[in-house]
Amino acid sequence: MRAAVTRRVGEKFEISEVEVASPIGREVLVEVRASGLCHSDITVVHTGMGVEMPIVLGHEIAGVVAAVGPDVTRMAVGDHVVAAALQPCGRCTACLGGNLNACVNAGALERDPADVPRLRDESGPLGRLQGLGGFAEQALIHENQLVTINPAMPFDKASVIGCAVVTGGGAVFNAAKVAPGQAVAVFGCGGVGLNAIQAARLAGATRIIGVDIQPEKLALAKKFGATDVIDSSQADVVESVDELTGGAGVDHAFVMIGVPAVAQTAMAVLGFNGTTYLVGGMSPGAELPLRPSPAESGLLPRQQGLRGLWLGSSNFYRDIPMYVDLYLGGRLNLDDLVTRTIALDEINEAYEEMERESLGRTVITFPGAS
Ligand SMILES: [Zn+2]
Ligand SMILES: [Zn+2]
Repeated sequence: MRAAVTRRVGEKFEISEVEVASPIGREVLVEVRASGLCHSDITVVHTGMGVEMPIVLGHEIAGVVAAVGPDVTRMAVGDHVVAAALQPCGRCTACLGGNLNACVNAGALERDPADVPRLRDESGPLGRLQGLGGFAEQALIHENQLVTINPAMPFDKASVIGCAVVTGGGAVFNAAKVAPGQAVAVFGCGGVGLNAIQAARLAGATRIIGVDIQPEKLALAKKFGATDVIDSSQADVVESVDELTGGAGVDHAFVMIGVPAVAQTAMAVLGFNGTTYLVGGMSPGAELPLRPSPAESGLLPRQQGLRGLWLGSSNFYRDIPMYVDLYLGGRLNLDDLVTRTIALDEINEAYEEMERESLGRTVITFPGAS
């Protein structure tokens, strides 16, 4: 089968023929129908992020179960599935408590090194980021990383639930627990930001402020439920939020852009008891200056918080079917989120375009996607 392989840091994706093993144990062979392009994959290409190469990236996967290992119990051939970029062992206290991010058995779902690798080509074994490997026609994934979904769900919209939707929505629902009447600011109105915005609308936030530097993204933010938008290349964000909230500031500020200066601005727009959530990945070694005092702006007297989040603090077994239901019920906008579908061989051009200007989400689709 064909896959987009990343061989070395900084190099382009190489479309090549790779060999996928047959499922053993609790593995599931997924016929990939749609695979979303997330910024974190291209960050791995550019910086390596400590990942061993060669590797097949891609972690927003929707597809159909093509074969199952003998010990698979939760899904069967023909089921429609969405994958998650977490590898919960399913046995530790954290997993049993639904805190899948906190699983203590990293690597528990991988094959024994003595076994045939799940993925290989003539150069040897190929890695799969977070146990997935979605930039390929097929992916061999442990059943703990998969959720079966309603087959009425279109694959391209389903794929983006795996990262963009659970990350943005989960930040609002699971971590911030946004309540009706609250004020929210979202810094960065790309795929993840738009989902935080529409989740805040579903949660009943009355003031939802989208911040970005691209007018097209701000227009999209309004479509997804932002009550106000600020172009931070034109206006002073702190002053603007101050005006919009009558000096009260926001209850929750979500930082989708992994830039410390943006996080500092987010902290400066918080109201009393407000919290800033760092959602977008920051480069290793990034530092954030904190100002616990003085009285008029400090975290301490204003009882403010700063919290890091990973994949929307999601229990994806519960959350992915919920987002599917919300979409099928007409309450979650994924139609305007998936702005473009491409073929696997167009991945390099699509990422180049995304880095110049990314509006919504680009998704690779394979035959049978619709
Ligand atoms: Zn992602
Ligand atoms: Zn675990």
